[in-house]
Amino acid sequence: MDHLSFISPTRNSPWGTYLAQVEATLPYLGKLARWAETLRRPKRALIVDIPIELDDGRIAHYEGYRVQHSLTRGPGKGGVRYHPEVTLEEVMALSAWMTVKNAAVNLPYGGAKGGIRVEPRDLSLKELERVTRRYTSEIGIIIGPNQDIPAPDVNTNGQIMAWMMDTYSMNTGATATGVVTGKPIPLGGSLGRVAATGRGVFVIAREAMRRLGLPLEGARVAVQGFGNVGSVAAKMFVANGARIVCVQDHSGTILNEQSLDMARLLDHVALHKGVAGFPGADAIDNENFWDVQSDVLIPAALEGQISAERANRLRTGLVVEGANGPTTPDGEAVLAERGIPVVPDVIANAGGVTVSYFEWVQDFSSFFWTEDEINVRLDKILVGAFKGIWETSEQHRISLRTAAFTVACTRVLQAREERGLYP
Ligand code: GLU
Repeated sequence: MDHLSFISPTRNSPWGTYLAQVEATLPYLGKLARWAETLRRPKRALIVDIPIELDDGRIAHYEGYRVQHSLTRGPGKGGVRYHPEVTLEEVMALSAWMTVKNAAVNLPYGGAKGGIRVEPRDLSLKELERVTRRYTSEIGIIIGPNQDIPAPDVNTNGQIMAWMMDTYSMNTGATATGVVTGKPIPLGGSLGRVAATGRGVFVIAREAMRRLGLPLEGARVAVQGFGNVGSVAAKMFVANGARIVCVQDHSGTILNEQSLDMARLLDHVALHKGVAGFPGADAIDNENFWDVQSDVLIPAALEGQISAERANRLRTGLVVEGANGPTTPDGEAVLAERGIPVVPDVIANAGGVTVSYFEWVQDFSSFFWTEDEINVRLDKILVGAFKGIWETSEQHRISLRTAAFTVACTRVLQAREERGLYP
């Protein structure tokens, strides 16, 4: 039997998507392309077994991962995801996208990501704590404030970051607030961090719309995913004069051609844990989400959502990727052919990790900033990074994704070349 290396992608996998995105970037890297293989190989990948005792006395085992795709420009940085379908290959892709994202906004980090293959909704709070603490202990050999700094991602939050920070601190014998970001405020968390990813999605969408000549006032917006990213972005769109016409989450899809009432929808979701059954909208089939007419479409859920088939059906003026990796390479080719611009994840959702960086800096200096300072600095970094990407895309006549990858991979490979190979 042929033995495939762990870096060989399986069909239609996020890792395959990432590798295709790197291939598209190579012609724009000049002499640095000599180092391109660095981008195709995660530096380090750790798989851990997580045994816990369930509340009823049974023993359960979960599989956990932490992948450090690159440490070239600084410590690893990226979230931890709890999901029943998490795989090593998915975490590899997510860690690589962190490398590109961190470099695209010029944060002094490499890229990393973690995950546990678990359905957190099936666990009690105590079981969730045990899984989190054992996972943190197991990956404790490669994380740390100067090594690799986890953060929230799909199905993880401030409480989980608090347990991670505590576990790491107990194991090392000193309180290390800087080992994770996205912590609760009393433990060294940063103001503005919870809303930062959604805020960034809005800021980048606003910039893209301005440059494309699409008015924000009255714009029709459809959002897939109504978690920490989608719901905050939706709120900000509405606060700035746009209308949210369609929302899909794990519970279903709701449509109101006029505009969904955000305040009432947020109350409904807090109470019912999903958008399904919201009285101010019609329920539609999940698959019909992709046929809804919009000016802006925001996929803010999981990877691989915009396939070629769905891309052919989309009736939107602009796609802004709140999720990581929501568009497949085939889907992207169809959108390019149809002239629908895509603002890629590595800039559109970079607001979260940017405020994570602010949190880490505040923890190191033990001096905390106001929410206003955070939001002003966040806007400045995102707007500046987007401008550079936009100009690169115009200069080479390439997609915004290839432009973002060109800017980011140039930074990573320049650092790679200047550091040189050891030994
Ligand atoms: N999980 C988020 C992302 O995908 C944030 C990572 C972080 O703050 O380190 O960008």
